[in-house]
Amino acid sequence: MTYYFSMSSYGESAFVEQTLDGETLPGISEGEIIVIRSTRRKKNISAYRQGGRIVVSIPARMSKADERAMIPEMVAKIRAQEAAATMSEEGLATRVDQLLTELAPEIVLRPSTITWRAMRERWGSCTSTDRTIRISDRLKGAPEYVLDYVLFHEAIHLQFFDHGPEFKGLLARFPLEAQAEAYLSGYEAAENALTAPEALKKLLNKGG
Ligand SMILES: [Zn+2]
Repeated sequence: MTYYFSMSSYGESAFVEQTLDGETLPGISEGEIIVIRSTRRKKNISAYRQGGRIVVSIPARMSKADERAMIPEMVAKIRAQEAAATMSEEGLATRVDQLLTELAPEIVLRPSTITWRAMRERWGSCTSTDRTIRISDRLKGAPEYVLDYVLFHEAIHLQFFDHGPEFKGLLARFPLEAQAEAYLSGYEAAENALTAPEALKKLLNKGG
């Protein structure tokens, strides 16, 4: 099934279609790719990351066969760029250790694993029972202090499960708390604004 509607917020006459008509390509999860068929675009193709998704803009007249052949290439290109700029999971673990040692030495617990995870509703999560931490892959391009802030937040949860006074007292030791909070709220506001059209929201929800 294909859903078409115009997307005026992209500043061009365009159509968004459901990811590859529901077909799944190897290594590409459902709902991860949004294809925009632009009537203004004549032959060039572009792809960029928007929140948890990759938006690929193609000429309106491109055939389905060409689309299918080209999308994995564009996705691979974006992923390679991101991988080059992304901290490894070992790097995340090292960073948590440094942050706790510097800012909250009274917490001696360390996470058993830290993993990047596709999470659109949360920035991070910590399961204290098995000491696992997950960080939203939306933070892959974030400034270092923002990633640090989220890592520190989740690391405090190893010891303090809720956001009570002890938790808040520790979190307040993070030097750029206000700036990091502002970045995260701004990101969420932009994400909401960019996905504002109701039809797009419905489309995105279908993909999970
Ligand atoms: Zn929390």
